Amino acid sequence: MKRSRFFLALATAITFGLPLAPGYSQKKPESLLIVNAQIADGTGAPLYRGNVRIVLSHIVGIGELQPQPGEPVIDANGLVLAPGFIDIHNHSEEGLPKDLAAETQVSQGITTLIIGADGDSPWPILNWIRVMQAHPAAVNVGTFAGHATIRQQVLGDDFRRTSTGPEIRQMEQRMSQAMNQGALGLSSGLEYEVGSYASTDEVVDLAKVAAKDGGIYMTHIRDEADKSFEALNEEIAIGERAHIPVEHSHIKLGTVSVQGKAAEYINIIESARKRGVDFMADCYPYDAWHSNLKVVVPDKQYENPKSVATALASYGGGSHITITEFSPNPSYVGRTIADLAKANKISEVEMYIKLIQEGDAARTEALIIGQSMIESDIKAFYQQPWVMVASDGGVGSEHPRGAGTFPRVLGVYVREKHWLTLPEAIRKMTALPAQRLDWKDRGVIREGAFADLVLFDPNTVIDRSTYTNPMALAIGIEKVLVNGVLVWDGGKPTGARPGFMIGRKGAVMEVSN
Ligand SMILES: [Zn+2]
Repeated sequence: MKRSRFFLALATAITFGLPLAPGYSQKKPESLLIVNAQIADGTGAPLYRGNVRIVLSHIVGIGELQPQPGEPVIDANGLVLAPGFIDIHNHSEEGLPKDLAAETQVSQGITTLIIGADGDSPWPILNWIRVMQAHPAAVNVGTFAGHATIRQQVLGDDFRRTSTGPEIRQMEQRMSQAMNQGALGLSSGLEYEVGSYASTDEVVDLAKVAAKDGGIYMTHIRDEADKSFEALNEEIAIGERAHIPVEHSHIKLGTVSVQGKAAEYINIIESARKRGVDFMADCYPYDAWHSNLKVVVPDKQYENPKSVATALASYGGGSHITITEFSPNPSYVGRTIADLAKANKISEVEMYIKLIQEGDAARTEALIIGQSMIESDIKAFYQQPWVMVASDGGVGSEHPRGAGTFPRVLGVYVREKHWLTLPEAIRKMTALPAQRLDWKDRGVIREGAFADLVLFDPNTVIDRSTYTNPMALAIGIEKVLVNGVLVWDGGKPTGARPGFMIGRKGAVMEVSN
């Protein structure tokens, strides 16, 4: 069923003459054999040695296969062959159309990226999908519909309030429209400006629309700081009331008052799961987050010294917050609030308020990196079987997670710290996100699955991106195939753009006019 649908899509794509990158042969080989691989199949099962045959976009055989006459062969030389990594929380909606090779992504082994996270998505979704279909990327892409995006469609600039019943009905219509256009579900960012004014009921009503069409609810919850536990309870209530699977984005405990409470947080999630809430989460492998300056002050009193003082203290002080982007004064970039306060001979609180005022005057806001998570919490989250790996980065990200997330988990958490076994880490990058999205034909190495594959060296794979050089490419990822086509080979992109737009149930979206 799926396959015939896929081949139909492929035929349609060919009919419409999708552009192929220069040097990418239109007459591609019938089949390809990968030999001498240690296969990590995505299920978490132990590695096993084997050969994998690919015909067009699919895996057609696994085992002791011999090359056929004239068949191209890739010798894996004992390296690990895994399903391509599925990044369920990726912010490439602006970067990918400008950088279709997505070097920072494929060099990590990412073969599918899911955009539209944190409540913000392209709109209308269909326009974005059509642009990507006309100019395909090296990677597959799926998208969520953003709650804040929809909310702003209906409320315009008058969003700093709860919405009325008729307004929620209008939002529901837009949600339904997005689902018809191929959205994977509803995403929210309830800690952010537009989403934060929404009532729980508003989110539940939109989540119900997504649930009816088989979508999921993916959320950056209302608070990841002092009120993390209240926000978690609201999230679980939304999942229960809307009867919708929940994906908790970038699980963390982000302020001093909640640090070290991962066990307690996990207990609440475990009891919800026992009650039948279909709850999963993703986590990035860093102890610092990347956001905007206003998110620091939860009561939104950005120029009230008392509120600002409390907020800065909750993150351990201004030395934990570094400016990464500030167009009114680029000289602030790379410096902490503590640094800048010292240089200006003012207090950290005054410096924060100065940054807000300079930003407001220029109708912008500083982007920041806040270092406020602790390793024991990150470890506890990663060791839960329902926590997957996701980057929260993307093409052009100014946080090292944008280019380093997946190799960092393999190099640091698997090889150096032994927090996870290799097969379990691979499962968290492949089959688990596929299960979350209800995709059966990706995220696993088996006959009939799509040939999204990563070949890497488990002894050398490591991230190299840092806070000062966030786009440095990882090493150790040798080859990456997307839909059976090599996109990354020996440290370079091949120029091929075989990525598809993918919808619910993993369906390849057909190209139409
Ligand atoms: Zn987020």
